[in-house]
Amino acid sequence: MQHEYDVAIIGAGMVGASLACALAPGNLKIAIVEPVKLSSDIQPSYDDRGIALSLSSKRILESLGVWQQVEPFATPIKKIHVTEQGRFGSTHIDTSGSEYNELGFVVIARSLGQALHNRLSELNNVSLICPAELRHFQQNNSGMFLELAVAESLQGINTKLLVGADGNNSLVRRLAGLKTDQYDFNQTAIVANITTQKDNSATAYERFTPHGPIALLPIGRNRSVLVFTVSRDNSECYLSMSDEQFIEKVESEFGRRLGKINQLGTRKSYPIIFIEAIKQYQQSLVLLGNAAHTIHPNAAQGFNLGLRDVAGLAECIFTGINRGLDLDDLSILESYIKLRGLDQQHVMQFTTGLARSFYNQFPLLSDVRHFALVLLDVFPVVKDSFMEKAMGVSGLQPGLVRGHV
Ligand SMILES: Cc1cc2nc3c(=O)[nH]c(=O)nc-3n(C[C@H](O)[C@H](O)[C@H](O)COP(=O)(O)OP(=O)(O)OC[C@H]3O[C@@H](n4cnc5c(N)ncnc54)[C@H](O)[C@@H]3O)c2cc1C
Repeated sequence: MQHEYDVAIIGAGMVGASLACALAPGNLKIAIVEPVKLSSDIQPSYDDRGIALSLSSKRILESLGVWQQVEPFATPIKKIHVTEQGRFGSTHIDTSGSEYNELGFVVIARSLGQALHNRLSELNNVSLICPAELRHFQQNNSGMFLELAVAESLQGINTKLLVGADGNNSLVRRLAGLKTDQYDFNQTAIVANITTQKDNSATAYERFTPHGPIALLPIGRNRSVLVFTVSRDNSECYLSMSDEQFIEKVESEFGRRLGKINQLGTRKSYPIIFIEAIKQYQQSLVLLGNAAHTIHPNAAQGFNLGLRDVAGLAECIFTGINRGLDLDDLSILESYIKLRGLDQQHVMQFTTGLARSFYNQFPLLSDVRHFALVLLDVFPVVKDSFMEKAMGVSGLQPGLVRGHV
């Protein structure tokens, strides 16, 4: 039996699930296909990582009807404290003197996933097909024909628009033949929850070291998510250390700003790679989230960027429908890239530049870097502009980011 949909989203990770919620008010018939159940321990999008959400993400999630469920589990970030190993001084960013109450929020990915999927289950026009996975697709006169593996059998669905939100190893991208720029940072992020002796006072810490950044994101008064980035060659050594040895290593590199680390949760590792789809769309098909751009997690921007793309794509689809266009009209996707391309480029360049500059110990570069941090600390105008960029509210942004529902 074949089913007809307006939009089929491949991947119900953070980005795909958000898009389904964003498109649902448009009365479209939406399918969302996901191989791994939300409750599964191997769900790749919704694990125990702490995700820092920017102000733009909070606004978008509010309008999707998801924030209300996320809020009880979200820890506000009131301050950001940046240091560089081997350099004196630090840079502080906070909301004092600005119109904002907080710089962002931290939420455990699993809680975010639960909130998104609860919202999906309330939407009558969204069908979650899970466990199921995409096998093939083929363009036809009215859009796309998809072949899905559902349980032991194959099922076909027709859709006017196919969205590949299937992560960095996107099958949609590969089947469509969309080329990428890719490289490996040769770094691994080791993530674990920790309990510290001192209260973190809602502060997010970032310390740049030659082997990559160390970040601590607050998830409670004495609890933080540690993101410890190391060179890939040494990652096995850090992962196989005893808890005591690992804690000692972190304390010696991060310092005792939060006192002793009393407890360390399970360590999980993530290889850090960069992927940019050179072209993100073709007739009846568009890539979104990590499938379109996978970036270094040093500035905690990946999902925040993906969510602004979700808001942008939904806005362009609704505008297109209001103008009487069909969903497979290429001008909808062209207007989406026009709206979102610049923000995507800025975030990709910023995160990659940051990773390369701190990884590089060339003395002149080290001085420039230090000067940039000092500049940020001393001049309020530079700091405010940096803060708005990090919050995802600067420049041309979709209506949902600007608070228009
Ligand atoms: C260590 C680390 C820390 C991070 N911290 C932050 C942070 O603080 N803030 C932030 O904004 N971002 C952060 N990010 C980035 C963020 O995790 C990603 O941007 C986000 O997960 C991308 O979501 P996605 O839905 O595009 O992809 P994914 O999360 O990879 O989800 C893809 C989904 O597609 C499904 N799928 C795959 N293949 C198929 C198929 N053939 N058919 C159907 N479904 C399929 C998968 O099962 C999965 O559910 C971090 C990343 C890392 C590695």
